[in-house]
Amino acid sequence: MMNVDKKKIAGYLLFIIVFFAAGIYLSDFSFESREKIIARTQILMGTVVEVRTRNENEDRSNSAINAAFKEIKRIDDLLSTYNSKSTIWKINNSEKKKYILSDELFNFLLRCDSIWILTEGAFDPALGSLTKAWGFYSDTPSVPAQKIIDKALLKSGWKSVRLIDKGIIEKESLLLDFGAIAKGYAADKAIEILKSHGIKDAFVNLGGQIKVTGNSWTVGIKHPRVFNLLLAKLKIKNYSVSTSGDYEKFFFEQGERYCHIIDPKTGYPASKCKSVTVINKDGMLADALSTACFVLGPLDAMSLINSIPGTEGLVVNSSGNWFMSNGFKKFLIK
Ligand code: ADP
Ligand code: MG
Repeated sequence: MMNVDKKKIAGYLLFIIVFFAAGIYLSDFSFESREKIIARTQILMGTVVEVRTRNENEDRSNSAINAAFKEIKRIDDLLSTYNSKSTIWKINNSEKKKYILSDELFNFLLRCDSIWILTEGAFDPALGSLTKAWGFYSDTPSVPAQKIIDKALLKSGWKSVRLIDKGIIEKESLLLDFGAIAKGYAADKAIEILKSHGIKDAFVNLGGQIKVTGNSWTVGIKHPRVFNLLLAKLKIKNYSVSTSGDYEKFFFEQGERYCHIIDPKTGYPASKCKSVTVINKDGMLADALSTACFVLGPLDAMSLINSIPGTEGLVVNSSGNWFMSNGFKKFLIK
């Protein structure tokens, strides 16, 4: 058992790790000195959430940023698998097979369903039994015995979830896990809220899940291996950028790296990439696609990204080679 002080220290360490683990961050050096930036951070959805406004009225900014944080908290209370207040936590921890959902949650699940189809199952938000088996929900992840993986595979898979008319969902005894998409959805909703408060120029970052509105913003993509080094700098306007990497949540066992992104077909952590960045106007899609493309590997990821209008991507494969979609270069700052 951990005593309280150890827990506290672990909490601070987690904070430091999470803070530095964010896949993408704003490159501060891009600011013009005459720009008036109001930036605030909070720990929400298990990560550091940053909201910035640029050249806006200070009072308006502060109340808009408060409302954006409140909205992100509301989404966490809907979708989190850790927070016992959340609707999804309650569904995961109940024996029932049939649930009646709010319109918002049902529509969210319909979108998950269409992305599951689009990615041919590489994005699978019903693999909670697998992430649990690998211990990614705990402080001590490790390689499970093959029979545990096989059992978790049987208790996983979006194919066993049925979305029925009028907000009804039916599922087998599996665990839903929206870790690959919830932050993208929250980024979309936070920008909507900022706009509804009259903010025109803003940036939100939920642990590497970015969405911006207004004029161009410069964002840096973290190098997957070299701490504090940027892989690339991007200039984006009214887009969302999502990076999934094997350097955010991982462990080593017998010299092998195991990361928190799971291949739903094998039940093992995906290993074809080090980092995948996806750009799309829709944060939810960018978030889910960066995870799915990480599973697919560079070649299938590139054909998928190039087939979806308004989507661009950068993949770094397991050997460190870059793959860029047809139009990715237009976002790159030399
Ligand atoms: P992060 O949450 O670190 O930004 P991702 O967006 O790539 O990274 O999401 C990874 C999380 O998504 C995992 O922690 C797990 O909860 C969930 N997950 C892992 N593999 C998959 C997958 N193939 N499809 C859908 N969700 C996944
Ligand atoms: Mg994702």
